[in-house]
Order: sequence, then C-alpha cells, then structure tokens
Amino acid sequence: SDAKQPLSSLSAAQLRDYLAAQQRAYTVLQERGLALDLTRGKPSTAQLDLSDELLHLPVTVKDGDGVDCRNYGGLTGIRQIREMFADLLWVEPEQVVAGGNSSLTMMHDCLVQMLLHGAVDSARAWARDERVKFICPVPGYDRHFTMLASYGIEMIPVDMLADGPDADAIEALVATDAAIKGMWIVPTYANPSGSVISMEVASRLAAMPTAAPDFKIFWDNAYAFHHLTEQEAKGVDILSVCSGAGHPNRPIMFASTSKITYAGAGVAFLAASAENVAWYLRHQQFASIGPDKLNQLRHVQYFKTPQGVRDLMVKHREILAPKFAAVDAALTAELDGLEVATWSKPTGGYFVNLDVLDGTAGRVVALAKAAGIVLTPAGASFPGGHDPRDRNIRLAPSFPVLADVETAMAGVATCVALASAEKLAA
Ligand code: PLP
Repeated sequence: SDAKQPLSSLSAAQLRDYLAAQQRAYTVLQERGLALDLTRGKPSTAQLDLSDELLHLPVTVKDGDGVDCRNYGGLTGIRQIREMFADLLWVEPEQVVAGGNSSLTMMHDCLVQMLLHGAVDSARAWARDERVKFICPVPGYDRHFTMLASYGIEMIPVDMLADGPDADAIEALVATDAAIKGMWIVPTYANPSGSVISMEVASRLAAMPTAAPDFKIFWDNAYAFHHLTEQEAKGVDILSVCSGAGHPNRPIMFASTSKITYAGAGVAFLAASAENVAWYLRHQQFASIGPDKLNQLRHVQYFKTPQGVRDLMVKHREILAPKFAAVDAALTAELDGLEVATWSKPTGGYFVNLDVLDGTAGRVVALAKAAGIVLTPAGASFPGGHDPRDRNIRLAPSFPVLADVETAMAGVATCVALASAEKLAA
C-alpha cells in the first residue's frame, strides 16, 4: 500500500483537502445505510454451532462416581469436570469448584461474601471499613468495574502494559494503603488490551507486601485457552506462585466455558487455595444445594479429555482469526502512516484495542453510530466509563460474520480518519 504521510505534517491546505475528502467518504458511508454491531464480545452463531453435540448429551445421568446428576447435592461440582479443568488451569482438582454457567457470578459471590463476612484472612467484614478500594488495570473489562461501582468500592486505575498491569505502580499503592483490598487482573489475552501477563509481573503481584493483610487478586482467566495463533500464550500458575511467595490465600482464579461451548449455558470455575475453597463453599452452602451437574456431565461427555477442549479451541481460532485479520487490514489500509491511531494485534482473546488521538474517541463512536455502525461506548473500558484521555475504543469482531466485520471496520477507519482530520484542522 502507498505509504501515507503523518497527518500532523500536512500543510494547512493539504489538511483542508484531506478533511474534505474524508467528509465525502463519510457521506458515502452514511448513504449505505448500514446496521452493524461491534459492541460485545460474544461468540458467533458458527462458534456456538461447533458445540451442538451438547444438545444430545448427556447419554447417561450418572457421573464417573455413580452420582445421579439429576438430583440435589455436590456443591463442589462433579469430580470429572473438576479434574479436567484442573489439568487445563494447572491447578489441583481439590482446588477447583465447578459452578453454574457464569464465572462473573462466582466473582460477584466472592466479592459480596468478602464485603459481608470478610475473607479467610480478614479481621472483619470489608463493608465495616469506611472505604474499600480496588486496583483496576485500564483499559479493562467494563463489568468488573460496574460490579465494584454497584457496591461503592473505589477504583484506582493503573495502566495495563504489554506484559500485564504496571507492577511498579501497584506495589507502591498497596504497600501503604490498607483500604486497597484487592485488584482485578485478566492475565491472558486481557479484555480489551490483549496483553498477556509475564511471569515476572505475576511474581511481583504474588510477592508484594500489602498494607491490607487480606488483599485479594481476582485472577479472571476468561481467555486462558482462547488463542488466535499457533503461538499459544502460557498461563501463569498463580496459585503456586502466590503460595511460594507466602501468600497462598491471595489469589482466586476464575474461568468458564462461556467462550468454549455456549456463552449462556457453559460451566464456570473457581480455583483457589484449600482454605479459600472451604471459605467459598462455607458461604455458598446457604445459597445452593448444588450446581447444574447434568450440564457439567454433558460437558465431560462432550470434551472427553482436556485435549478435547484444546482441539475445540483450534476450531474457534479458525473462525475468529480471519475476523481479527480483517480488523487489522481495514485499519492498516486507511490509517497506516497517518500517526493518528494505534491498535493491538492480539494473539488471543476477543478484542482489539484501538487508541485514537486524544479527545477523539467519543467523536469516532458518534460518527460510526450515525453511519449505522454501533461500537462500544468510548470510555467503557475505564472505571465510571471515563477515559481521561478520550482515546480508547474497544472493538469486538467475534459476533458478526466476516463480511460484516470487513464492512464495519472500513467504516470505522473512515470515522477515525475524519475525526482526526477535524481535530488537527480545528
Ligand atoms: N471475564 C471477562 C474478562 C470477560 O470478558 C467476560 C465476558 O466477556 C466474562 C468474564 C464473563 O464470563 P462468564 O460468561 O463466565 O460469566
């Protein structure tokens, strides 16, 4: 492609011409009357179809231990699925609880129990403290932030870097402020940055002294197996790393098959120290007599082995990778060389992180919307929905079919070019 000049290096007359050209391109875009949606990281229909064998399972109602899965009981989830995901998550089966269909619910349950009763190492319930704060790597997952906000927990943004959250900043914060009770982290293929935590950063988070004796890492492994290339990121065994650093009760790991089988009908997992697992079950016993074991058994019979999960993820990759390539191609074709935007080229996960010129993200999203392309609201990946630089846009290409991703992203690129020209010409 023809190398473009940085927009900021154009003369006033050249910039006026460029702006006029983008305005014309935008008018053409609007006239197409598109109705496309790149907002949420949902699996596509083709991906859901991969697992439709589930609809014919289970073929028996008893699990490997002879437990009738149709009946009450078994709060930890069935042994076979705990073993399967213990293998995949590099933990021990006893450290795993297999729950319902949503890991977000398990995160929420943990948080609420900590607020109401305290964690295993708390002097008292968190809610008794005047202020509770969490460290929030940004950009991050909007639902993590809205969950904290709903309980009045203060959020302290810390930058997400290529190798995980800014450990220097986190170490300094937690060392002195006892109100900081925890942090979120999506360690592998983070939503939305795509970054993968390094062993070094993970080790620092595991070992760092914290003013709060009951500091917790909510280790959200939502994308642990969701590779987009053959270069598969290795997850950090955070339970062992924390244990080795003398903080066995610091991490609670979460994962689910929401983006492996069915997003609305998968199986969710929690993994933690024996003490944390006992704590979780002690509180959970008042909320449930047991999870949907039949769905767990169905998943065991479908996957058969941990390798069955990995094999399925390759099929997801084959559907998803071309969509991510289309995002990169559209942005590159329109914006490469202009120096008005940078974007991630994720090797896994569900998102592309697009950073535009400061102060233009809201404008890009509004332009796209007026042209029939719905993007995640600007700032959604920040606590309170507020991106202080108004530059971050989360792109979610998984759900639309490939042709729609191509069309939508060409349109998004036009909107970025127009908003950038407007800003520089102003
Ligand atoms: N965690 C992250 C980082 C996510 O991106 C998502 C879904 O987008 C979830 C958790 C939701 O997980 P679940 O479907 O298991 O509740």
